[in-house]
Amino acid sequence: MTIGSTVFGYPRIGPKRELKRAVEQYWAGKIDEAALQQTAKQLRAQTWAELSELDSVPSNTFSFYDQVLDTSLLFDAIPQRFRDLGLSELDTCFAAARGRDGAAALELTKWFDTNYHYLVPELGPDTEFRLTGDKPIAEYREALELGITTRPVLLGPVTYLLLAKSTVPGFEPVTLLDRLLEAYVELLGRLRVEGVEWVQIDEPAFAADRTPAELNALRRTYRTLSGLPGRPKLLVTGYYGDLGEALPILASSQVEAIGIDLVSAPDTSVAIPALRDKILVAGLVDGRNVWRTDLHAALATAAALLGSAREVVVSSSSTLLHVPYDLEAENLEPDVQARLAFARQKVREIVVLGKALRNGADGAWADEAKHQVPSPRRDDHVRARIASLRPEHSVRAPYEERAAAQQARLALPPLATTTIGSFPQTGDIRKARAAVRGGEITEDEYGQRMRNEIGRVIDLQEDIGLDVLVHGEPERNDMVQYFAEHLEGFASTEFAWVQSYGSRCVRPPIIHGDVSRPKPMTVPWSTYAQSLTSKPVKGMLTGPVTILAWSFVRDDQPLADTANQVALALRDEIRDLEAAGIRVVQVDEPALRELLPLRRKDQPAYLEWSVGAFRLATAGATTGTQIHTHLCYSEFGEVIGAISDLDADVTTIEAARSKMEILEGLEFPRGIGPGVYDIHSPLVPSEDDIVSLITEAVRAVPGERLWINPDCGLKTRGYAEVEPALRNLVAATRRMRAHLGG
Ligand code: GLN
Ligand code: ZN
Repeated sequence: MTIGSTVFGYPRIGPKRELKRAVEQYWAGKIDEAALQQTAKQLRAQTWAELSELDSVPSNTFSFYDQVLDTSLLFDAIPQRFRDLGLSELDTCFAAARGRDGAAALELTKWFDTNYHYLVPELGPDTEFRLTGDKPIAEYREALELGITTRPVLLGPVTYLLLAKSTVPGFEPVTLLDRLLEAYVELLGRLRVEGVEWVQIDEPAFAADRTPAELNALRRTYRTLSGLPGRPKLLVTGYYGDLGEALPILASSQVEAIGIDLVSAPDTSVAIPALRDKILVAGLVDGRNVWRTDLHAALATAAALLGSAREVVVSSSSTLLHVPYDLEAENLEPDVQARLAFARQKVREIVVLGKALRNGADGAWADEAKHQVPSPRRDDHVRARIASLRPEHSVRAPYEERAAAQQARLALPPLATTTIGSFPQTGDIRKARAAVRGGEITEDEYGQRMRNEIGRVIDLQEDIGLDVLVHGEPERNDMVQYFAEHLEGFASTEFAWVQSYGSRCVRPPIIHGDVSRPKPMTVPWSTYAQSLTSKPVKGMLTGPVTILAWSFVRDDQPLADTANQVALALRDEIRDLEAAGIRVVQVDEPALRELLPLRRKDQPAYLEWSVGAFRLATAGATTGTQIHTHLCYSEFGEVIGAISDLDADVTTIEAARSKMEILEGLEFPRGIGPGVYDIHSPLVPSEDDIVSLITEAVRAVPGERLWINPDCGLKTRGYAEVEPALRNLVAATRRMRAHLGG
């Protein structure tokens, strides 16, 4: 590498989701392995061709499913239950990802603070690592045959172990480091024999807080790997935040290059003497968001770094896995389009920056840097409202007063029953949505079909005997997209897919300007549902933090400001719902914990603004309106204080799978609904199963504050399971009420 350009990684699903299609066809038995491999090969070739303008091109960024799973396969660290299936390498990969023939899939979990999910390695004291795969070598050769020299990218050994879970209680996978290092040493040796000049090793786990022992593991690892005689040159990266104490550790090893994320952590101090003989790969182009780079500012930052290192290389701040392929495929409003850059555009920016750093501003630089970036759309009314907010706007009456007023209006029995919002999304609902989009049916016809569906769902809930009903959310394809389509300041894309896990892709909306609500978003559906029943129907909204978490958010103002604008729109929606006779409103925040910063020092500020936005959204509700919130996880631990600060009247959470353990010692001061029906499983819980969960729950929570509900929304399930499960839920609740009353 000379002063130049690279990226830490690239999307792999294909610009038109070719990989998703091919993989799903393969699973369905419609194409054979050779056809799937052919698609994969074409996608890799296309990626390398697109990246060939960079000074250093990564390889081994492709994956059929997930790079962490690939690492487990590479080093033969696959649980025995998948080996026993006796499948091909490819089918073993898919079996571990999805489960097969009674062998349960590996656990899927979030990759750092992104929306990508990886498959958690299962490691125990007996795990041996052996280099049995050759993916990085094969991809290097494949690129070389196309005339492109690449830099294989490997997941770092310490991060791999830190991401793993133990198969034995109390065992720490990181203690397997020495065994794993032997396998990495062997791999580096083989890459060397191939003629590989550079290898990239990613250690993003060090962008989070780490113990001294973990930092020591990093020190040992790179002392060992960089001390190997006759090895490829090493670029070690740590992105998604500041490397903190890990940076001097890497600097004092003999690795040739260190990659850092200067977008997530612009204040990273690189003033380390030991860095002076190394290459600093400066992540200056945002790998996780979709905005154009301010090239002048980025060039100035890069130039300022020149004195700290032997050489400076411009890169994306992280892998580009988290952004869509190509802005050119979109047809957004011009003032929005002109502000965006997707993966292809980002590569261009990096190339231009790298050249400008080496040669000074040339013609390409002038072309690229003269681009006028329009300002985000301003809404002075929203800004004035935000400016005039006072603390009392975010405070409701004391809980006791609210609880009494709500009980007077709702007259709910103890152990009140409800659901989380959505009912099964049937084939008919999806057909109606496709038909209205394709112009085959009118908006009126679509509205009629949705109302019919709402009618069915209300009748069913009445018949089952639930206490607080929902309209079932048939009109929502996605709980964030729906609001994005109804709010100003959001754009929806057509092809801007990003991988969430495996073949699953999402298309996050883009929050580009000030947010406002032109008209009510949910009121007609909720009031129609309420008109059909005398039982209370819950209005159903997605909270500000979740809307931000599942969107690409403007980066020209603090997230808190954008969250508050969304909150005001929701606040107005709640007021309109109340005016239309809705007495209960649920504001879902399943992503509250997702956005929690990796470093503890950054967490209090995050919790303050996220809780603040939720309260701004909900505190306009009158005392007699019952506010619910729903969170999709049971590990309250680190955020329990914040959840309580949301000040919702009722909080529903996941708990069935953990058998109510979460309630142990929990002193939650308001209503709580620990889910008694695990909707992630197709099993129908029996009345007795539910009775025993409620029995656990009533030990910890008094009946008037305990709610009985499923774990999460029902949209992914079918009626064949949902209906009997809800009937059992109500029957179990009645039995418990009789028991407690008696
Ligand atoms: N109200 C939403 C639903 O029921 C909540 C979804 C979620 O928790 N992710 O589908
Ligand atoms: Zn949920």
